[in-house]
Order: sequence, then structure tokens, then C-alpha cells
Amino acid sequence: MIDINKIRKDFPILNRKINGNRLIYFDNAATSQTPSVVVEEIANYYYNYNSNIHRGVHSLSQEATEAYEKSRKIIQSNFNAKYNHEIIFTSGSTHGINLVASGYAHLLKKGDEIILSAMEHHSNIVPWQMLCEKTGAKLKVAPMNSDGVLIMEEYNKMCNKNTKLVVISHVSNALGTINPIKSILSIAHSNNAVVLIDGAQAAPHIKIDVQDLDIDFYVVSGHKLMGPTGVGVLYGKEKLLKLLPPYQGGGEMIDQVTFEKTTYAGLPHKFEAGTPNIAGGIAMGKAVEYINEIGYEAIAQYENTLLRYATSELLKIEGLKIYGESENKTAVISFNIKSIHPYDIGTILDKLGIAVRTGHHCAQPIMDFFEIPGTIRVSFSFYNTKEEIDFMVNSIKRAKSMLG
Ligand SMILES: *Cc1c(COP(=O)(O)O)cnc(C)c1O
Repeated sequence: MIDINKIRKDFPILNRKINGNRLIYFDNAATSQTPSVVVEEIANYYYNYNSNIHRGVHSLSQEATEAYEKSRKIIQSNFNAKYNHEIIFTSGSTHGINLVASGYAHLLKKGDEIILSAMEHHSNIVPWQMLCEKTGAKLKVAPMNSDGVLIMEEYNKMCNKNTKLVVISHVSNALGTINPIKSILSIAHSNNAVVLIDGAQAAPHIKIDVQDLDIDFYVVSGHKLMGPTGVGVLYGKEKLLKLLPPYQGGGEMIDQVTFEKTTYAGLPHKFEAGTPNIAGGIAMGKAVEYINEIGYEAIAQYENTLLRYATSELLKIEGLKIYGESENKTAVISFNIKSIHPYDIGTILDKLGIAVRTGHHCAQPIMDFFEIPGTIRVSFSFYNTKEEIDFMVNSIKRAKSMLG
């Protein structure tokens, strides 16, 4: 059970006033808010043991290294990875995807194929296009239907012995669709293809066990799971990470350097060149702990109640159309109202203190599929309430009568 009053106290930003109204934050799919314990974790690092990791003989450096490596273990345990060196700290999902895509430049050749889905975020499209340009590999797009659900028979048809990589979002950021990654993994693995799952939208809402699901690569962003910006994690199976060359060269990622030849460090350091976001990495571990204290099951159940309530209330508004009607969704609702521009609704809602997202949500191919320029997207977290949804629905009605 979610103790909503207790939880809201963990997020002081929720008391903010925007244009004289109390903030209602419904843009959680872009960035979630950060609980005090996580903010304090960052402050504690800078106040008490700010120093570089893995290098120093002195106490501060040892404390920082210990805290950073402890956080890696917390994250390892959250995703049930077999080894802690399978957890690579990145700057976010985008970085994690680019790291893997750039590594595969050495492993793919002309004639190889990469399958992605019709509902990917630009972060999970562009790096693969760049990889195809470099290698001559071919990109294939698995289609979805008008509910925003992947057509699984097409995966079966598309996947063959030329398929080397299958890349897929666990949850669509623009539609909320939870994709059947288990089936996709099984189809891909039966063709010996490696699967990268973009978990940016799933990790805050769904418990993931990478061993149980036999996941090859999984990426997440700290700032979407109650952590800070500028930090994220790439999970990769040890044997696959070992096949990839380093992404960047520099300090921290080497074993021996001479001007003639450099040998690289082992995992995870091979992929962690330079001084990382130390405070961010430590705070991300705290954020993952915070989520686990509340519990994934309680979170999913509560957010699903909000999703169902908001969906039914929004659909009472005449002319409102929802994009993304999968049975299996996270608490994301993308919609438009007749011919009103999403931006105009978003602007009026902001005047009333309600933060929503408008536009193409870094998923232009989805907008093209539905033949729309963009949508209004509301996305809920476990600190949101039904009262906030009521206020938003009434505000949308007001906006509609002003604009319509
Ligand atoms: C936000 C998001 C990304 C990119 O994450 P960054 O934190 O901006 O790197 C990638 N994929 C999906 C599905 C997202 O929602």
C-alpha cells in the first residue's frame, strides 16, 4: 500500500507554487522528481567526502570509492545481475545505447540486420542508423497496430539468421505500451541475435530480473527513476561486454599505458573512462533503494489505479482521443483534443500549475504513424493523486472551451 501523505513529504518540490497555483507534476516520463533522501545523498558527498575515486591513497578517496562501488552493488541487486562488473555507469540511457552501438561497429558487416520497433525513442533509433552507415548493416522496423501494440507475428517473419541485433523499448515513452520483451527475447535468441532493451521508461515502474529474463543489454536513466540527471546504467552480460571494445579512451579505463601500446582495464572500468559523475552514481543507488522501500508491486498497483481513473475521466471530454491503448500500459496517457494544438493546451495548463509534456516526445516516427504533429502527454508517478487528476481534467475542459 502507498502511504500517499508520507510519500508526498519526501518530495518538497510538490509544495511549490507555479503562477500562484500548487504544482501538479504530470511530466514524470520526462524526468521524475527527486526525494529528499537522494538530494541529501548528493549534498552529503560534496559536504563530507568529495574526492576522486579508484585512485587516492587518502581517506576521502577511499570513502568515495566505497560509496560508488556500494551503489553499483545496490543496482546490481535491483536488476539481479550475476556480477557487479556487469553494471556500467553511464550518463544515461542515450549514452548506454551509443556505447553498445559503437562497439558493434567492430562486430557487424554488410548483410547483417538490426531490427528495431516502430515505437522507439530517437535515442534508440539514431545510434543504430549511424551503426548501419558505418557497417553496411540493414535496419528493419517491426510494425505496431493502431492501439500502439507491436505486431508479434512480424517479429517471427523478420527475424532470421542475418539478424544480429534486436533493439526494443521495454515501455514506450510516448504511448506507455509495455512491450512483450520475453517473447521478443525468445524469438531473437532462437536466431542467435543479441537484444538491447531500452528500459528508460520501465525501470521506475517494473521490477526487472535480467537473469530470469535472459536479457543481453538493458539501459536506464537515473533521472527517470527518482535519481539525479547525468547518470544512468548499462547492464550487459559479461561475455557480451567482453566482446565490445572500449567506448572512450582515457584515465581509469587502462591497465598499462606506454606510447607504443596500451592495454585496457577489465570490466566495468574498460567502459568508464575519465572521472565519472561520482555523486550522481552514489545518489542513483539511493534512489533505487528508495523505490524498493516503497516496493515495485505497490507502485505498479497505485499508478495503475491513477491510469485507469484518468483514462476514464479524460475520455468523458468530447473530441478527446487517446493514442496508445494497449491493455498493458504504464501510467502514460498521450492525447489530443480535436483540432486544438497540443502546445496551446499545455500553455494553459502551465498557467494553472500543471506540468505536462507536449510535442513529439522524441518519437517522431510514432507521430507520423498516427499522422499527427504531436500530443499532450500526462505521465503519473506514485506521488500523484486522484485530486490532482480531477483538477487537470477540469482545467482541460476550461482550456477546451477557451480554445475550441
Ligand atoms: C528518456 C528516454 C530515453 C533517453 O534517456 P536520456 O536520459 O535522455 O538519455 C531513451 N529511451 C526512452 C524510452 C526514454 O523515455
